[in-house]
Amino acid sequence: MALDPPTMLTITIALAAAAALYLAVEWRTVRESSLLYWATGFAIISVGSTLALLRSNGFLLIGIWFANGLLITAHFCFLLGVARFTETRLSRAWYLVFITWLVMLLLPEGPLWSKVMLLVQSLLVALPTLRASFLLRPHGMSLSVGAVQLRFVLLGHGLFYLAKMIPPLVPGTLIDLAALRGEIIQVSLVEGAMAIMLIALSMTGTERYRREQQIARLAARDPLTALYNRRALEVRAPRLINEVSAARPGALLLIDIDNFKLVNDLYGHTAGDRLLVGLSEMIRAMLPASALAARLGGDEFVILLGNASPARVHELGSSLREQFLLLTSQSFATPAAVTLSIGANLFDRPPASLAALIEQGDIALYESKRGGRNRIQLDDQTLAAPSAQQG
Ligand code: GH3
Ligand code: MG
Repeated sequence: MALDPPTMLTITIALAAAAALYLAVEWRTVRESSLLYWATGFAIISVGSTLALLRSNGFLLIGIWFANGLLITAHFCFLLGVARFTETRLSRAWYLVFITWLVMLLLPEGPLWSKVMLLVQSLLVALPTLRASFLLRPHGMSLSVGAVQLRFVLLGHGLFYLAKMIPPLVPGTLIDLAALRGEIIQVSLVEGAMAIMLIALSMTGTERYRREQQIARLAARDPLTALYNRRALEVRAPRLINEVSAARPGALLLIDIDNFKLVNDLYGHTAGDRLLVGLSEMIRAMLPASALAARLGGDEFVILLGNASPARVHELGSSLREQFLLLTSQSFATPAAVTLSIGANLFDRPPASLAALIEQGDIALYESKRGGRNRIQLDDQTLAAPSAQQG
């Protein structure tokens, strides 16, 4: 097979240039600086490999020392990109890598020269690569699929460079960097080409998965209050409402602010917005872990409870009403009180749909408003219900 080192180096140049271009184009859409560091790393590998070709023409300093220095710099760029991605600060001690490399210039030429160069270069590539892989370990938050891939690809690549330190230590191994001769050099060139493909692909996946997660998170939330929006509630509600039973009834509370327009009209839209955020914070603080809350739109909010009872619904409704009245009476002087009306229903059989459940809540809410506002109207539809109750 004619995969001689110059051919392999040419393939490496092409692959690294393609990877740099691919990551740079990705950066144009995703705009994450880690992608720029990674693209720069691959561009440097492309230049370094071009210079490495010159060694056969006798340019040993440029073709070996300088080219290998660029390979180390490229891996350092990969580490910087991962540090950006994981929002980690790197210690300044990492710059010692370059100082070590400069010291290598002083190495006297001799039979051991190639071996020591390979040994030091392998270590200086392995260290930033393994550090980058370590930064991508899961800590607290779970990692995206792309980040897990990158973590293991970098781990494999870093371990390969550690293993590359063994042959120079074994007496009698042939390593001739100037002539690109020796088995370890051949294997290394093949691994390099593979690593470029794998690393570049997992790098784009890393940012892309994270971006998708961010978009999914944003699409599920109401931008003002950060509560779930109606669509997100529709996705999450079925699990909760289909689990209800006579022993564990579910409840829906539909909440609407009374006279909210007065706040907007007298104190401005921003004050109205702040009040909506204040109410959402109250809801969040009082919500049991298994419950769901969402802003349906305007001044209308919904709470879905599992394992509810009339007493729990009344207790939650009263606490919300009292806290909200305290907040509005302290903040706004309005001709009519700004309070909460709540329409609730308790059910022990799964409803036809969330929409049907909300529709029933709407009827109770309308009753609550009609009954004088600042109150809760509970429609108990469980088999155990004595009759519809009020509070
Ligand atoms: P009612 O007592 O009958 O509930 O009347 P209300 O004054 O509370 O007004 P209503 O519920 O009928 O309408 C809600 C109002 O909330 C209409 C709109 O001007 C206002 N609104 C809707 N979305 C927002 C928002 O995001 N921010 C602010 N500040 N106001 C909003
Ligand atoms: Mg209202």
